[in-house]
Amino acid sequence: MLPSERLRDKLITLDGKGYTAYKTIAGEYRFPTFVLYIDHVQQDPFATPSLVRVRMDMAECQFPPHLWSNRVRKMALEDFITRQVHSAIRRFVKGHRGTGRSGMITVDVGGQEVLPRTSCLVHEDYVEVRLSMGLPGDGRRIQAKEAMAMFFEELPKIVEASLVYRNLDPRAAERHVNVVEDQEALREQLPERGLVAFVADDSVLPRESGVSDRPLRHSRVVRFTSPEELRCTLHAPNRGQISGMGIPRGVTLIVGGGYHGKSTLLQALQRAVYPHIPGDGREYVVTVRDAVKIRAEDGRRIEKVDISPFISNLPFGEDTTSFCTENASGSTSQAANIMEALEAGTSLLLMDEDTCATNFMIRDEMMQRLVPKEKEPITPFIDQVRRLYEEYGVSTILVMGGSGDYFEVADVVIMMDCYRARVVTAEAKRIASERQDRRVPEGPERLGPIRARVPLAEGFNPYRGKRVRVEAKGLRTLLFGREVIDLWALEQLVDESQTRAIGEVIVYALEKGYFDGESSLGEILDRIEEDIQTHGLEVISPWKGGHPGDYALPRRQEIAAAINRLRTLVVRQREARNPNQIL
Ligand code: ADP
Ligand code: MG
Repeated sequence: MLPSERLRDKLITLDGKGYTAYKTIAGEYRFPTFVLYIDHVQQDPFATPSLVRVRMDMAECQFPPHLWSNRVRKMALEDFITRQVHSAIRRFVKGHRGTGRSGMITVDVGGQEVLPRTSCLVHEDYVEVRLSMGLPGDGRRIQAKEAMAMFFEELPKIVEASLVYRNLDPRAAERHVNVVEDQEALREQLPERGLVAFVADDSVLPRESGVSDRPLRHSRVVRFTSPEELRCTLHAPNRGQISGMGIPRGVTLIVGGGYHGKSTLLQALQRAVYPHIPGDGREYVVTVRDAVKIRAEDGRRIEKVDISPFISNLPFGEDTTSFCTENASGSTSQAANIMEALEAGTSLLLMDEDTCATNFMIRDEMMQRLVPKEKEPITPFIDQVRRLYEEYGVSTILVMGGSGDYFEVADVVIMMDCYRARVVTAEAKRIASERQDRRVPEGPERLGPIRARVPLAEGFNPYRGKRVRVEAKGLRTLLFGREVIDLWALEQLVDESQTRAIGEVIVYALEKGYFDGESSLGEILDRIEEDIQTHGLEVISPWKGGHPGDYALPRRQEIAAAINRLRTLVVRQREARNPNQIL
């Protein structure tokens, strides 16, 4: 390790030289209160920025141990520190200092959700943050003065303002950690209370706009209040008792007039698989961790999925127990999305009529009379939703304002009325029982076992030319070798760093030999999760030792979904498993 003066000396000699000479500054430097690691130096001012880390001894940072006393609190503190670094950068960094990305300093900060990420590491001996820096150049000439300002003025200010506990707002730190811990605790309590979701009283569910995930701030925001019938009280370790609406296991229907807040409630639930930051409005909205939003997704590819519980007897006698298509329809894509979610593991499906295929959801009595069952390949979801619960223990929460057919199969009916939730189960059941015409339930008696699929290594090629090329292009596009994986329908993918991580996870599993021709997708996901659990998220990084790159933890459901959307995927179907194994 060199003293920081040596970095200054090096930079002075580099002034005006060709940009690539910057590579001589790679290394470790001791600053008065921290160590700077320059792990990767960019090739030119337009290239991916240089990767650096800053490490400060815990003796210097002085974060009180209670803020990182368990896994969840540590993760929350890391997230908090990352956000502090982010705001310090905004305060202290001048930014543009020449060509391309010259002068920028960034940290990979999250949005409204709090996810485990590689941007910060709280260790018992130190705190480390991982940054990107655009080393300044004028064209391809090194601008040493500007670089010195970044390393010797801006960086120390950022570090001082965000890594030293006494310079932070202790109440904000405490609140951040406590709120995240409370959410995880509430989520843990759902199973023992027989619930799949919980929405606390006073939650603010609507968002600012279709493109902003911040809470709607408006005098007309209606805060959530639980209907008495579903009210329950959960215990949060920091905040104490929290009262709100518990949604029980089984089939739950959300009805109500258009524009009365149905989709807003469902969207809050689908995001509630993750904790939210204080002030988000959804801090105490929690859903079981493995909940999957299901929607229609026409145009997607499907590789040997058993969709026969929903679709059989296709016109040309195509096999639907091992269904393949390059271009799925609304209903086949929705069926595949369900079967794949079961395969990856889920205990709750979330659906919204706004994004479902109508012919997949309902087939009413008149249509049954006009089009006989023999002529209709689709067994509508309404006829399988109870079996999903009874055979597999998989619950469903469904928004359906357009058809009352679901009254019969629902355990609970919640009506959204001017953004207020009411329980209308009894009324809905009475209406269903009084009806004269009766639709006939259709479809197979049992769903039967879920078929496991074995993804084969030959289907994955992360190379473009001689190099592995795996890259996120925005939140919902993943470049994988020469393939473009389209993730537009994965509404529960919330952070581009998750997308990036999914790409690396697939490469990691390939390199580890997990796609061994025997293991099912579920077993491979188990192994990946185990590795991340044991070694941390950094285990997936292709950069060993130094700056790991910017990643946030994806769920296994989204990893599976990305693999399933890879257009070169090849799988072998395996013996049907006992359905109970998926529970
Ligand atoms: P639906 O699905 O029932 O048609 P939405 O959930 O899409 O209705 O909501 C319609 C509009 O109402 C959206 O613009 C949404 O932001 C707004 N909204 C939803 N819930 C609330 C609420 N609790 N308070 C104020 N506005 C809300
Ligand atoms: Mg809607």
